[in-house]
Amino acid sequence: MSQLRTPLAVYRILPGTNCGRCFLPSCLAFSAAVIRGDKRLEDCPPLQESGGAGQVADVRPKVRETELQEQISLLQARVSSLDLPLVAARVGGEWCNGRLRLQVLGKMYEVGPDGRVTSACHTHPGLVIPLLHYILEGREGELTGDWVAFRELKDGAAMNALFVQRGEAPLKQLADSQPEFFGDLVSIFSGRRADAHLDAEISLVLYPLPKLPVMICYWPPEDDLDSKLTLLFDSSADRRLGIRPIYSLAVGLAMMFEKIARRHL
Ligand code: SF4
Repeated sequence: MSQLRTPLAVYRILPGTNCGRCFLPSCLAFSAAVIRGDKRLEDCPPLQESGGAGQVADVRPKVRETELQEQISLLQARVSSLDLPLVAARVGGEWCNGRLRLQVLGKMYEVGPDGRVTSACHTHPGLVIPLLHYILEGREGELTGDWVAFRELKDGAAMNALFVQRGEAPLKQLADSQPEFFGDLVSIFSGRRADAHLDAEISLVLYPLPKLPVMICYWPPEDDLDSKLTLLFDSSADRRLGIRPIYSLAVGLAMMFEKIARRHL
């Protein structure tokens, strides 16, 4: 079995059809995502169907999973030293039966004194990591009701290209290929339809963290124009949380929604 070390090595074994079933715009984008550890070869359905994914040993995702678990363990250790009953009001949660309870995407999540996160819903690392950061570093403040792009947040411009590539682009691909995507966000994750923003055909607000709403604006393809998807944040978001956890939150949402969509396909 050969091992894959570079995007080109991954690309060579892919069908090369750019079909988008992996929720990325091209096989090349998928290759880069595999090397980063954001995707597994099994996430390419045509490759899986042809049995090609079993021909190579794909080591990066295992490394990536280990890294994420280590990151979670470190954050949990820091959370365990907090006075969680005191933290509850700051983060918009409540202290109940010895656990910190918070609404995440409309579902109840609980954080124990040891920092462990439990929920009857998905506890995807992409969501757990920003949630733990939010408990550790989140600051109080009122929402302004003004929506701004990621690049307009403090220090957002420097990370914007990565934000578009790993957050907005996979969500756009998902919205393009799954007509029920926005309906699912409303019904499964308590999304709220908002008034049309920036003339978007769909504007929808989610609460991935209690005081950190995200607005998804989507323009479907029209004539020769490609579709467009933009994530917006309340203009107070960067006063409440650092830019890196906000970035992780967007990428984590994209990863989690992709995973759910794959399971439903
Ligand atoms: S699913 Fe993605 S990687 Fe696989 S063939 Fe289609 S575009 Fe390429």
